[in-house]
Amino acid sequence: MFSLLLARNVSFLSIPTAARLSMSYISGKRSLAYYKTPNVALKTPKQSLQLQNLVCHTGRRGFTSLLTAVIGGAAVRYSWFKLPPETRRRYANAARTYRLAIVAAGLCLIGTFLSRCMEFDPWTDLWRLFLFSERTVQALADKEVAAVLASMTEKCCLLETEHPTYRRVAGVMSRLLYANNGVDEIRNRRWSLVVVDHPAVNAFVLASGFIFVFSGLAAVANDDQLSIVVGHELAHVVLRHTNHINSVNFAVHLLCLTPVSVVLSVALPFLEAMLAVMVCRLVLYVCVGLTKSRSLETEADALGFLLAANACVDVTQGYLFWETMSEIEGPSTLTWWLETHPTNEIRGRHIHSLIPAAVELQKLAKC
Ligand SMILES: [Zn+2]
Repeated sequence: MFSLLLARNVSFLSIPTAARLSMSYISGKRSLAYYKTPNVALKTPKQSLQLQNLVCHTGRRGFTSLLTAVIGGAAVRYSWFKLPPETRRRYANAARTYRLAIVAAGLCLIGTFLSRCMEFDPWTDLWRLFLFSERTVQALADKEVAAVLASMTEKCCLLETEHPTYRRVAGVMSRLLYANNGVDEIRNRRWSLVVVDHPAVNAFVLASGFIFVFSGLAAVANDDQLSIVVGHELAHVVLRHTNHINSVNFAVHLLCLTPVSVVLSVALPFLEAMLAVMVCRLVLYVCVGLTKSRSLETEADALGFLLAANACVDVTQGYLFWETMSEIEGPSTLTWWLETHPTNEIRGRHIHSLIPAAVELQKLAKC
Protein backbone atom coordinates (compact mmCIF):
# COMPACT_ATOMS: atom_id res chain seq x y z
CA MET A 1 0.00 0.00 0.00
CA PHE A 2 2.82 2.37 0.83
CA SER A 3 4.61 1.84 -2.45
CA LEU A 4 1.37 2.76 -4.23
CA LEU A 5 1.01 5.80 -2.02
CA LEU A 6 4.55 6.92 -2.67
CA ALA A 7 4.38 6.37 -6.39
CA ARG A 8 1.22 8.43 -6.61
CA ASN A 9 2.58 11.29 -4.58
CA VAL A 10 5.85 11.43 -6.43
CA SER A 11 4.16 11.66 -9.78
CA PHE A 12 1.54 14.20 -8.86
CA LEU A 13 3.84 16.57 -7.02
CA SER A 14 6.94 16.41 -9.15
CA ILE A 15 5.63 18.19 -12.22
CA PRO A 16 2.83 20.61 -11.29
CA THR A 17 4.42 21.73 -8.03
CA ALA A 18 7.82 22.31 -9.58
CA ALA A 19 6.14 24.33 -12.32
CA ARG A 20 4.20 26.43 -9.82
CA LEU A 21 7.22 27.04 -7.66
CA SER A 22 9.36 28.09 -10.58
CA MET A 23 6.54 30.41 -11.67
CA SER A 24 6.49 31.85 -8.19
CA TYR A 25 10.22 32.42 -8.33
CA ILE A 26 9.96 34.19 -11.68
CA SER A 27 6.99 36.29 -10.55
CA GLY A 28 9.24 38.08 -8.10
CA LYS A 29 10.29 38.35 -4.50
CA ARG A 30 8.35 41.44 -3.58
CA SER A 31 9.08 41.99 0.05
CA LEU A 32 10.83 40.47 2.98
CA ALA A 33 8.83 37.83 4.77
CA TYR A 34 7.30 38.93 8.02
CA TYR A 35 6.55 37.05 11.16
CA LYS A 36 5.40 38.08 14.57
CA THR A 37 5.54 36.70 18.03
CA PRO A 38 2.42 36.04 20.08
CA ASN A 39 1.92 38.46 22.91
CA VAL A 40 1.91 36.01 25.81
CA ALA A 41 3.50 35.78 29.22
CA LEU A 42 6.66 33.76 28.77
CA LYS A 43 8.33 32.96 32.07
CA THR A 44 6.45 29.97 33.47
CA PRO A 45 7.89 26.85 35.12
CA LYS A 46 9.03 24.19 32.70
CA GLN A 47 6.93 21.06 32.93
CA SER A 48 6.42 17.98 30.85
CA LEU A 49 4.31 18.86 27.82
CA GLN A 50 1.63 16.47 26.69
CA LEU A 51 1.91 16.66 22.92
CA GLN A 52 -1.47 15.03 22.45
CA ASN A 53 -3.05 18.18 23.92
CA LEU A 54 -1.78 20.15 20.99
CA VAL A 55 -3.60 18.12 18.39
CA CYS A 56 -7.10 19.13 17.39
CA HIS A 57 -9.41 16.21 18.09
CA THR A 58 -12.92 16.01 16.72
CA GLY A 59 -13.77 12.65 18.28
CA ARG A 60 -15.97 13.78 21.15
CA ARG A 61 -18.39 15.65 18.93
CA GLY A 62 -18.50 12.64 16.62
CA PHE A 63 -19.33 10.37 19.53
CA THR A 64 -22.24 12.60 20.61
CA SER A 65 -23.74 12.53 17.13
CA LEU A 66 -23.39 8.75 17.04
CA LEU A 67 -25.06 8.37 20.42
CA THR A 68 -27.92 10.52 19.14
CA ALA A 69 -28.17 8.30 16.05
CA VAL A 70 -28.20 5.13 18.14
CA ILE A 71 -30.84 6.47 20.55
CA GLY A 72 -32.90 7.68 17.57
CA GLY A 73 -32.61 4.26 15.95
CA ALA A 74 -33.58 2.53 19.20
CA ALA A 75 -36.66 4.78 19.43
CA VAL A 76 -37.61 3.81 15.86
CA ARG A 77 -37.10 0.13 16.76
CA TYR A 78 -39.31 0.51 19.87
CA SER A 79 -42.03 2.26 17.86
CA TRP A 80 -41.77 -0.36 15.12
CA PHE A 81 -42.47 -3.26 17.49
CA LYS A 82 -45.42 -1.35 18.98
CA LEU A 83 -47.10 -1.31 15.56
CA PRO A 84 -49.71 -3.99 14.75
CA PRO A 85 -48.22 -6.91 12.73
CA GLU A 86 -50.39 -6.10 9.70
CA THR A 87 -49.13 -2.49 9.56
CA ARG A 88 -45.49 -3.64 9.88
CA ARG A 89 -46.00 -6.10 7.03
CA ARG A 90 -47.48 -3.35 4.84
CA TYR A 91 -44.53 -0.97 5.52
CA ALA A 92 -42.00 -3.75 4.94
CA ASN A 93 -43.63 -4.66 1.59
CA ALA A 94 -43.64 -0.99 0.54
CA ALA A 95 -39.94 -0.63 1.43
CA ARG A 96 -39.13 -3.79 -0.58
CA THR A 97 -41.12 -2.54 -3.58
CA TYR A 98 -39.49 0.92 -3.63
CA ARG A 99 -36.01 -0.08 -2.43
CA LEU A 100 -34.31 0.80 -5.71
CA ALA A 101 -35.97 4.22 -5.82
CA ILE A 102 -35.01 4.83 -2.16
CA VAL A 103 -31.37 3.88 -2.78
CA ALA A 104 -31.23 5.97 -6.00
CA ALA A 105 -32.71 9.01 -4.24
CA GLY A 106 -30.20 8.62 -1.38
CA LEU A 107 -27.27 8.33 -3.79
CA CYS A 108 -28.49 11.38 -5.78
CA LEU A 109 -28.72 13.43 -2.59
CA ILE A 110 -25.23 12.37 -1.48
CA GLY A 111 -23.79 12.94 -4.97
CA THR A 112 -25.33 16.42 -5.20
CA PHE A 113 -24.11 17.31 -1.74
CA LEU A 114 -20.55 16.15 -2.41
CA SER A 115 -20.28 17.58 -5.91
CA ARG A 116 -21.23 21.04 -4.62
CA CYS A 117 -18.43 20.85 -2.06
CA MET A 118 -15.65 19.51 -4.31
CA GLU A 119 -12.96 21.94 -5.41
CA PHE A 120 -10.11 21.45 -7.82
CA ASP A 121 -6.80 21.72 -6.01
CA PRO A 122 -4.09 22.95 -8.41
CA TRP A 123 -1.28 21.80 -6.12
CA THR A 124 -2.27 18.17 -6.27
CA ASP A 125 -4.28 18.14 -9.53
CA LEU A 126 -7.07 16.47 -7.59
CA TRP A 127 -10.70 17.29 -6.89
CA ARG A 128 -10.97 17.59 -3.12
CA LEU A 129 -13.70 17.88 -0.55
CA PHE A 130 -13.82 21.22 1.29
CA LEU A 131 -17.00 21.51 3.33
CA PHE A 132 -16.04 24.55 5.38
CA SER A 133 -15.46 28.12 4.29
CA GLU A 134 -11.99 29.56 4.85
CA ARG A 135 -13.56 32.12 7.18
CA THR A 136 -14.93 29.33 9.40
CA VAL A 137 -11.59 27.51 9.41
CA GLN A 138 -9.78 30.75 10.31
CA ALA A 139 -12.21 31.55 13.12
CA LEU A 140 -11.77 28.06 14.59
CA ALA A 141 -8.00 28.26 14.14
CA ASP A 142 -7.86 31.60 15.98
CA LYS A 143 -9.66 30.04 18.94
CA GLU A 144 -7.34 27.05 18.76
CA VAL A 145 -4.27 29.33 18.80
CA ALA A 146 -5.49 31.00 21.98
CA ALA A 147 -6.15 27.61 23.63
CA VAL A 148 -2.79 26.14 22.59
CA LEU A 149 -0.84 29.20 23.73
CA ALA A 150 -2.68 29.23 27.06
CA SER A 151 -1.96 25.52 27.50
CA MET A 152 1.71 26.01 26.65
CA THR A 153 2.28 28.96 28.92
CA GLU A 154 0.85 26.83 31.74
CA LYS A 155 3.01 23.83 30.98
CA CYS A 156 6.33 25.10 29.66
CA CYS A 157 8.26 28.06 28.40
CA LEU A 158 8.07 29.82 25.11
CA LEU A 159 11.37 31.27 23.99
CA GLU A 160 11.79 35.04 23.80
CA THR A 161 12.36 36.50 20.35
CA GLU A 162 15.87 37.54 21.42
CA HIS A 163 16.82 33.98 22.33
CA PRO A 164 19.50 32.60 19.95
CA THR A 165 17.39 29.52 19.11
CA TYR A 166 14.36 31.67 18.29
CA ARG A 167 16.49 33.95 16.13
CA ARG A 168 17.93 30.96 14.32
CA VAL A 169 14.54 29.37 13.58
CA ALA A 170 13.12 32.77 12.60
CA GLY A 171 16.02 33.26 10.20
CA VAL A 172 15.38 29.89 8.58
CA MET A 173 11.65 30.59 8.31
CA SER A 174 12.24 34.08 6.97
CA ARG A 175 14.52 32.72 4.23
CA LEU A 176 11.89 30.15 3.31
CA LEU A 177 9.06 32.70 3.15
CA TYR A 178 11.21 35.14 1.20
CA ALA A 179 12.17 32.56 -1.42
CA ASN A 180 8.57 31.44 -1.88
CA ASN A 181 7.00 34.89 -1.73
CA GLY A 182 5.60 34.42 -5.21
CA VAL A 183 3.23 31.73 -3.98
CA ASP A 184 -0.11 33.47 -3.31
CA GLU A 185 -1.00 31.20 -0.40
CA ILE A 186 2.27 32.12 1.29
CA ARG A 187 2.43 35.82 0.38
CA ASN A 188 -1.16 36.58 1.39
CA ARG A 189 -0.98 35.12 4.88
CA ARG A 190 0.44 36.47 8.12
CA TRP A 191 2.75 33.80 9.46
CA SER A 192 3.69 33.56 13.11
CA LEU A 193 6.45 31.62 14.77
CA VAL A 194 6.45 30.22 18.31
CA VAL A 195 9.50 28.35 19.59
CA VAL A 196 8.70 26.10 22.53
CA ASP A 197 11.45 25.33 25.01
CA HIS A 198 10.93 21.57 25.16
CA PRO A 199 13.14 18.59 24.22
CA ALA A 200 10.53 17.06 21.86
CA VAL A 201 11.87 16.71 18.31
CA ASN A 202 8.72 18.08 16.77
CA ALA A 203 6.92 20.95 15.06
CA PHE A 204 3.34 21.60 14.10
CA VAL A 205 1.19 24.26 12.49
CA LEU A 206 -2.31 25.62 12.98
CA ALA A 207 -4.50 26.62 10.07
CA SER A 208 -4.17 30.31 10.92
CA GLY A 209 -0.45 30.19 10.05
CA PHE A 210 0.99 29.76 13.56
CA ILE A 211 4.04 27.52 13.33
CA PHE A 212 5.27 25.91 16.56
CA VAL A 213 8.81 24.57 16.63
CA PHE A 214 10.22 22.72 19.64
CA SER A 215 13.76 23.53 20.78
CA GLY A 216 14.47 19.76 20.72
CA LEU A 217 14.03 19.85 16.95
CA ALA A 218 16.30 22.88 16.59
CA ALA A 219 18.94 21.03 18.63
CA VAL A 220 19.15 17.99 16.33
CA ALA A 221 18.49 19.60 12.92
CA ASN A 222 20.88 21.82 10.98
CA ASP A 223 19.52 24.91 9.20
CA ASP A 224 18.75 23.09 5.95
CA GLN A 225 16.95 20.29 7.78
CA LEU A 226 15.04 22.84 9.84
CA SER A 227 14.04 24.58 6.63
CA ILE A 228 12.66 21.32 5.22
CA VAL A 229 10.63 20.70 8.40
CA VAL A 230 9.27 24.26 8.49
CA GLY A 231 8.51 23.89 4.76
CA HIS A 232 6.43 20.82 5.65
CA GLU A 233 4.40 22.91 8.11
CA LEU A 234 3.92 25.70 5.55
CA ALA A 235 2.76 23.08 3.05
CA HIS A 236 -0.01 21.89 5.38
CA VAL A 237 -1.47 25.41 5.33
CA VAL A 238 -0.91 26.00 1.60
CA LEU A 239 -2.69 22.71 0.82
CA ARG A 240 -5.57 23.54 3.25
CA HIS A 241 -5.17 20.21 5.00
CA THR A 242 -7.11 21.21 8.13
CA ASN A 243 -10.19 22.06 6.09
CA HIS A 244 -9.87 18.94 3.93
CA ILE A 245 -9.33 16.37 6.68
CA ASN A 246 -12.12 17.81 8.81
CA SER A 247 -14.37 17.75 5.74
CA VAL A 248 -13.55 14.09 5.09
CA ASN A 249 -14.13 13.17 8.74
CA PHE A 250 -17.42 15.09 8.77
CA ALA A 251 -18.59 13.44 5.54
CA VAL A 252 -17.69 9.98 6.84
CA HIS A 253 -19.67 10.64 10.00
CA LEU A 254 -22.67 12.16 8.27
CA LEU A 255 -22.94 9.94 5.21
CA CYS A 256 -21.60 6.66 6.46
CA LEU A 257 -21.39 6.19 10.19
CA THR A 258 -24.63 7.93 11.17
CA PRO A 259 -26.87 6.00 8.68
CA VAL A 260 -25.13 2.73 9.63
CA SER A 261 -25.67 3.53 13.32
CA VAL A 262 -29.36 4.17 12.73
CA VAL A 263 -29.74 0.91 10.78
CA LEU A 264 -27.81 -1.08 13.41
CA SER A 265 -29.82 0.36 16.27
CA VAL A 266 -33.08 -0.39 14.48
CA ALA A 267 -31.97 -3.97 13.77
CA LEU A 268 -30.25 -4.81 17.09
CA PRO A 269 -30.97 -4.38 20.82
CA PHE A 270 -29.47 -1.21 22.32
CA LEU A 271 -26.26 -2.60 23.87
CA GLU A 272 -25.39 -4.78 20.88
CA ALA A 273 -26.07 -1.81 18.58
CA MET A 274 -23.76 0.42 20.65
CA LEU A 275 -21.01 -2.20 20.48
CA ALA A 276 -21.43 -2.65 16.72
CA VAL A 277 -21.36 1.13 16.21
CA MET A 278 -18.15 1.43 18.26
CA VAL A 279 -16.53 -1.30 16.13
CA CYS A 280 -17.65 0.44 12.90
CA ARG A 281 -16.32 3.74 14.18
CA LEU A 282 -12.95 2.21 15.00
CA VAL A 283 -12.71 0.47 11.62
CA LEU A 284 -13.55 3.71 9.77
CA TYR A 285 -11.05 5.66 11.87
CA VAL A 286 -8.26 3.21 11.02
CA CYS A 287 -9.22 2.71 7.36
CA VAL A 288 -10.22 6.26 6.43
CA GLY A 289 -9.05 8.71 9.12
CA LEU A 290 -5.53 7.39 9.68
CA THR A 291 -4.93 6.47 6.04
CA LYS A 292 -5.99 9.97 5.00
CA SER A 293 -3.80 11.53 7.66
CA ARG A 294 -0.72 9.62 6.46
CA SER A 295 -1.47 10.53 2.87
CA LEU A 296 -1.70 14.25 3.74
CA GLU A 297 1.56 14.06 5.67
CA THR A 298 3.20 12.57 2.58
CA GLU A 299 1.85 15.44 0.50
CA ALA A 300 3.13 18.02 2.98
CA ASP A 301 6.54 16.30 2.97
CA ALA A 302 6.72 16.61 -0.81
CA LEU A 303 5.57 20.20 -1.14
CA GLY A 304 7.54 21.29 1.94
CA PHE A 305 10.69 19.74 0.51
CA LEU A 306 10.22 21.61 -2.78
CA LEU A 307 9.53 24.88 -0.95
CA ALA A 308 12.79 24.38 0.93
CA ALA A 309 14.59 23.47 -2.31
CA ASN A 310 13.29 26.74 -3.79
CA ALA A 311 15.05 28.46 -0.89
CA CYS A 312 18.29 26.84 -2.07
CA VAL A 313 18.81 24.40 0.80
CA ASP A 314 21.04 21.35 0.40
CA VAL A 315 18.49 18.84 -0.91
CA THR A 316 20.42 15.84 0.44
CA GLN A 317 19.60 16.98 3.96
CA GLY A 318 15.98 15.80 3.80
CA TYR A 319 16.55 12.07 3.94
CA LEU A 320 19.53 12.57 6.29
CA PHE A 321 17.12 14.24 8.71
CA TRP A 322 14.75 11.26 8.58
CA GLU A 323 17.70 8.92 9.11
CA THR A 324 18.51 10.90 12.25
CA MET A 325 14.86 10.67 13.32
CA SER A 326 14.96 6.89 12.82
CA GLU A 327 18.01 6.70 15.11
CA ILE A 328 16.34 8.88 17.74
CA GLU A 329 12.96 7.15 17.69
CA GLY A 330 14.11 3.63 16.86
CA PRO A 331 12.93 1.37 14.07
CA SER A 332 9.30 1.47 12.97
CA THR A 333 6.90 -1.02 14.52
CA LEU A 334 4.39 -3.37 12.96
CA THR A 335 1.56 -1.05 14.03
CA TRP A 336 2.41 1.59 11.42
CA TRP A 337 -1.21 1.34 10.24
CA LEU A 338 -2.30 2.81 13.58
CA GLU A 339 -0.05 5.86 13.15
CA THR A 340 -1.10 9.30 11.93
CA HIS A 341 2.24 9.77 10.12
CA PRO A 342 4.20 7.48 7.77
CA THR A 343 7.25 5.87 9.34
CA ASN A 344 10.54 7.78 9.36
CA GLU A 345 12.03 5.27 6.91
CA ILE A 346 9.20 5.79 4.41
CA ARG A 347 9.42 9.56 4.76
CA GLY A 348 13.16 9.43 4.15
CA ARG A 349 12.77 7.28 1.02
CA HIS A 350 10.01 9.56 -0.26
CA ILE A 351 12.12 12.71 0.19
CA HIS A 352 15.06 10.95 -1.44
CA SER A 353 12.93 10.13 -4.50
CA LEU A 354 12.09 13.83 -4.88
CA ILE A 355 15.70 14.98 -5.13
CA PRO A 356 15.76 15.05 -8.98
CA ALA A 357 12.65 17.31 -9.04
CA ALA A 358 14.20 19.49 -6.34
CA VAL A 359 17.46 19.82 -8.30
CA GLU A 360 15.52 20.85 -11.42
CA LEU A 361 13.70 23.44 -9.36
CA GLN A 362 16.98 24.79 -7.99
CA LYS A 363 18.31 25.18 -11.54
CA LEU A 364 15.27 27.30 -12.40
CA ALA A 365 15.72 29.28 -9.19
CA LYS A 366 19.42 29.78 -10.06
CA CYS A 367 20.52 28.53 -6.66
ZN1 LIG B 1 2.66 17.25 9.16
